[in-house]
Amino acid sequence: MPEGDTIFRAAKTLHTYMAGHLVTRFESVFPALNRVADDRPIVGRTIQTVSARGKHLLMTFSGDLVLRTHMRMNGSWHIYPAGARWHRPARDMRVLVCTADACGVGFNIPVAELLTARQLDRHQVLQSLGPDLLGEPFDRDEALRRMRDQSGVPIAEVLLDQRVMAGIGNVFKSEVLFLAGVHPFAPVDSLADTDLLRILDAAREQLAANVMDSSRMLTLSIGRRTTRSLNPAENLWVYSRGGRPCRRCGARILSKKTGLAARPTYWCPTCQPALRPRPI
Ligand SMILES: [Zn+2]
Repeated sequence: MPEGDTIFRAAKTLHTYMAGHLVTRFESVFPALNRVADDRPIVGRTIQTVSARGKHLLMTFSGDLVLRTHMRMNGSWHIYPAGARWHRPARDMRVLVCTADACGVGFNIPVAELLTARQLDRHQVLQSLGPDLLGEPFDRDEALRRMRDQSGVPIAEVLLDQRVMAGIGNVFKSEVLFLAGVHPFAPVDSLADTDLLRILDAAREQLAANVMDSSRMLTLSIGRRTTRSLNPAENLWVYSRGGRPCRRCGARILSKKTGLAARPTYWCPTCQPALRPRPI
């Protein structure tokens, strides 16, 4: 599942290579998108900016038109030099935007729409997003307030709720809680402000580090790591490591699937003890 760092990196790369350039080709498989593109052609417009807001990628064209895409579980944006072979089959293409030099290809993107700036401002999903963990400045107090509003909800679920804070997906959820030493199923009210702030800081730090980490500028893929190890086999602390020894203490990593999507959570029972008395 793409997380905030992946979307941010995709937006940054698309912006670097495509902003300021004229669109020479636009295709999509979405009838609603094509209808707007028929009425208000995309070809001939200039790409002004490509940016990320939480897990939404926004491509702004001249003449008041914005392409909003959301990756959900399997979507991704790639960028290729004009004429280069794609790394994914053409049947997975959902949106294609080309300039004279480069093509941005949205593969398996489930959500895409064309909006005016005004519609974007009033967009309900975007409006309800919590503070963006990759945003500068980051509103730490507002994020803390929104976490506190989730009374009784396990912290692991709170981190995934994009209305509380935007940018964390399932991998970082487990990793950030390990780094902060917090049990994933601790209800948010059982945690002190210092715990919540430590979680927020770890989340910011990990997302930012993974944006900077990208050395693959032309094909975007998930290669995130949180351990500072250069060995790709040792790049995560707990995620997907159920039953294996904790890299810090040797205890067996536990895992549990929860929620409708049955997304797995991983944690170390020793480094992330279940009962943490709240300091008075
Ligand atoms: Zn441990």
